[in-house]
Amino acid sequence: MKKRVILMGPPGGGKGTQAKSLTAAMHIPHISTGDMLRAARREGTELGKQADRYISAGQLVPDDLVNGIVAERLSSEKDGYLLDGYPRTIAQADALEAAGEKIDAVVLIDVPDELLVERIVNRESCGQCGAVYHKLTMPSKKPGVCDVCGGALVQRADDNEKVVRDRLVAYHAQTQPLVDYYKSRGLLFHINGNAAVDVVFEEIRKALEF
Ligand code: AMP
Repeated sequence: MKKRVILMGPPGGGKGTQAKSLTAAMHIPHISTGDMLRAARREGTELGKQADRYISAGQLVPDDLVNGIVAERLSSEKDGYLLDGYPRTIAQADALEAAGEKIDAVVLIDVPDELLVERIVNRESCGQCGAVYHKLTMPSKKPGVCDVCGGALVQRADDNEKVVRDRLVAYHAQTQPLVDYYKSRGLLFHINGNAAVDVVFEEIRKALEF
């Protein structure tokens, strides 16, 4: 089984949903820089305050801020991990390599842009456990209430059409170059994300050999 995994893909491509299932099945921690930055923002830390204006504008948070929190977290994970939303720039990938992290696989969940905006504006997630829903295609049983833990469902402030379009611009300009970066290292698995959630999961399971 490949246990040091990077999950890559555009915003709304299904990374968060797949990450939850994969980490449960593989018994490895789910490390999401988006979740870490949102937690820092909620707690009102200096990092959270600095990150807020970038997140709200749909831009990437500067590399040095993100690299710092990830390096600290990874140093305590010896038995593998699933990185969700990191690295997002070549500089972040270089920092990961320089830190001596040996990645086993990079899974790219690919979804065409025209489907992403629709997915994101209909997305809601649990404020308590982070479970993700889609109002039309994957609704919670009871509107506004999480099936998993009963928490209230919320929509992320950056999940609106204007900010999503800026996040897509950032993705294509800054994150997509990582596809070639990891392809050249023989680590890339390309997965069609325009399919049912369990079909996508199965494709990833085969790639990661578990
Ligand atoms: P996500 O939850 O992965 O969609 O991330 C939400 C927002 O957090 C992004 O739009 C960025 O502003 C910020 N962010 C998350 N991960 C990173 C990263 N690796 N580098 C820079 N910014 C990030």
